Amino acid sequence: MRIAVVGGGPGGLYLASWVRQFDPAGEVVVWERNPAGDTFGFGVVFSDGTLLGIKETDPALYDAMAARSERWADIAVRYRGEVVRSAGHGFAAIGRKELLRLLYRRCAEAGVTLRFGEQGPPVERLLAEYDLVVAADGANSAIRSGRSDAFGTSLDTRSSRYIWLAVDKPFDALTFLVAESGHGALHGHAYPFSAELSTFIVEADEHAWRAAGLAAPIAGLTPDGSDRFAVERLEEIFADTLDGHRLTGNRSRWRRFTVVRNRRWHQGNLVLLGDAAHTTHFSIGSGTRLAMEDALVLAGLLRDHGCLDGGGSPEAALVAYEQRRGPAVAAAQRAAQASLEWFEDIGLAMGREASQFAFELLTRGGRLSYEDLTAAVRSSDSSFR
Ligand SMILES: Cc1cc2nc3c(=O)[nH]c(=O)nc-3n(C[C@H](O)[C@H](O)[C@H](O)COP(=O)(O)OP(=O)(O)OC[C@H]3O[C@@H](n4cnc5c(N)ncnc54)[C@H](O)[C@@H]3O)c2cc1C
Repeated sequence: MRIAVVGGGPGGLYLASWVRQFDPAGEVVVWERNPAGDTFGFGVVFSDGTLLGIKETDPALYDAMAARSERWADIAVRYRGEVVRSAGHGFAAIGRKELLRLLYRRCAEAGVTLRFGEQGPPVERLLAEYDLVVAADGANSAIRSGRSDAFGTSLDTRSSRYIWLAVDKPFDALTFLVAESGHGALHGHAYPFSAELSTFIVEADEHAWRAAGLAAPIAGLTPDGSDRFAVERLEEIFADTLDGHRLTGNRSRWRRFTVVRNRRWHQGNLVLLGDAAHTTHFSIGSGTRLAMEDALVLAGLLRDHGCLDGGGSPEAALVAYEQRRGPAVAAAQRAAQASLEWFEDIGLAMGREASQFAFELLTRGGRLSYEDLTAAVRSSDSSFR
């Protein structure tokens, strides 16, 4: 089978490597518009449950990821001068660049053709030349946008602003942070992804963002191409938490998050995968996992339906792919929606005392229950009782 993949993020690369492993005689080409390793963002977090899934299906990738990941067990909430900790959860995080490097290597070993620094060719041409075209071109997928009626796309761009930064301080927990500007709350989260660095993401609703003086037009850039004023202002606002450590960016700017949904994920031999098909708010840290699960399921179904060895049209496999992935993605999107709405309305919780605030924050998406937290607390000296 000849497969064209547009987009060399985690979803596109993982799919390509699996398909070639299943079908060494086939041809798989990935187009990635950026040079190898030139990507956005910093660390991505995975829960223990996700890692266990990777360990079962792909022990080699698990071992490679484990060797490059930071692991920890606690969640901490920093709020009004107090820190509430809840222990016994279990997370790991890996740098996005590290993860991509591992996936490049897997692709190269499997015999995938990787075309870095090249835009994907026009989709009509790909559809004429390949048996299957995979749009793994991210949340702003141009392929999907060109066929939004066929896919039944809905885009919901939220009003809050966020910025994805890193700090040269290894946090010891998934740490939620709240800073009050006098006119609203800025909140964020941080977690370690290497021995030296932690991801540091800040979000604020429009009002709080303006009130904190963050709405100024970009006047200058840091050497890595980030909004210099935003970096410096956030160092001031979160000075207590940062404790003298410095924020760095990676072409980091204020952005608005868009929730992507599609009623259909394929049209003929064109299929959406990962963020091109669905996004989940970063506060639940699931997008990379979902993209990689899409890849694994799609590759397996193409094999099981006999498509890879020239056994005919992939239509049945693509229908099964939507049926298999749709419910899992919808559940994650529901949790993500509850999470993003809780943070958008964070002002409603700002009067609470610290342990109540932390309890509401940690249970916001419905994925952690009271029992999860009390069980977690009993194994620690947390004030969360
Ligand atoms: C602030 C923030 C924090 C996040 N934190 C986490 C986290 O902790 N854990 C987690 O699991 N997920 C996290 N995510 C989500 C995660 O980044 C995405 O869900 C994940 O990257 C999706 O993978 P993908 O392969 O579908 O798309 P992407 O990673 O977006 O990859 C798409 C690729 O396609 C390329 N491309 C686009 N158009 C073309 C074209 N025309 N030709 C060639 N190439 C093209 C792009 O350059 C890009 O490399 C976060 C997201 C954000 C915004």
